[in-house]
Amino acid sequence: MKLAFRITKNNKNSFLPLFSSIKRVFRDAEIYLVKSEEEIISGDFDILFYSFMSPDLSWIKQELANIKNKDICLVAGGAHTSADPEGVLNMGFDSVVVGEGEKSIVSLIKDYRNGNLKPLYHSYVSFIDYSFSDSLYTSAVEIVRGCVHRCKFCQVPYLFKGVKYRSIASVLREARILLERKRSFIRFIAPNSLSYLSYDGVTPNIKALERLFSGLKDIGIKEIFFGSFPSEVRPESVVPEAVKLMARFCANKRVVMGIQSGSEERLFKLNRGHTLSQVLNAINILNNFGFYVEADFIFGFPNETDKERKETLNFIYYILSHFQVYIHAHTYMPLPGTPLASQKPSSLPKWFRAKLHELEREGLLRGFWQKQEKIGEHLWKERAHL
Ligand code: SF4
Repeated sequence: MKLAFRITKNNKNSFLPLFSSIKRVFRDAEIYLVKSEEEIISGDFDILFYSFMSPDLSWIKQELANIKNKDICLVAGGAHTSADPEGVLNMGFDSVVVGEGEKSIVSLIKDYRNGNLKPLYHSYVSFIDYSFSDSLYTSAVEIVRGCVHRCKFCQVPYLFKGVKYRSIASVLREARILLERKRSFIRFIAPNSLSYLSYDGVTPNIKALERLFSGLKDIGIKEIFFGSFPSEVRPESVVPEAVKLMARFCANKRVVMGIQSGSEERLFKLNRGHTLSQVLNAINILNNFGFYVEADFIFGFPNETDKERKETLNFIYYILSHFQVYIHAHTYMPLPGTPLASQKPSSLPKWFRAKLHELEREGLLRGFWQKQEKIGEHLWKERAHL
């Protein structure tokens, strides 16, 4: 059986868990990574798997239109599919996978073989243990899946059930595979790296972090990147004991921290669960241990007021002048499945845009906020059928 995975630079990590499930059950399965429409058209596959996020909708629709004459079973999963399975089925997929795919993909392939494919598969898993040994490629190691927080713009807590951690033994096993494949550095996937093996999903487990870092060093990993892309940290999880360990063991000099707004009122409305003083405290701790902070902000939330914008800009100016930070700018996108999905993004007024451009020119702000502004508008129009 020939199984193809439509790989893009954004979905490599989403497919990784599936390869282990397939290899463990279907030993005869041939797995192909397909990087372009041309490869789909010229290939001969039984099932083609997609995994995508809401901003990818336009090109996925176009690609489906272009390959519509191909006799192939089309399956979709990922964040957007989980949030809007019916909409994705209507796009032309034969089946959709909602939630975590590790179990569902096994049922789906069995049903396909028996000629009994269902339109919807839905399941969750209770632990993370897939392995690079079953995959044609390696990537960052997923150590935390899910999030205890409920930020109203984010799909993570609505996509996964609860919070799961990969065990230290499992991380070390993956690190050994990386070394065998001549990679002496390691990165992680986690919505909040400092929550790794935390009892409450917030308070860092210092002993576990030390065991993780020292274990990785002991087996020969030269560079550990922790709290930097594709993972980040939450402000209230940043405590001196944890950052001290990071400074001792980790290679990254930059840490990504989600702040999202400089307005206390907006943070509250977003259900962020932290205050601005916790943000300042976290930046201060990270700077004191030599880490530069990449501060994530989102602009254009629904019903955003000028007062909130001014407070956010003032907060940005304050941290830029007092700390070692740079601003990573995003624009709000109404993502399906989130509490804010049905709310229209606010347009950024001219004066606010001018300030963002000014910061960009000074090299203090980066990010795809203008591209996301267009995507956000498009998502909103699709949802509102405009
Ligand atoms: S803390 Fe991060 S991952 Fe968790 S809900 Fe908020 S934005 Fe999403």
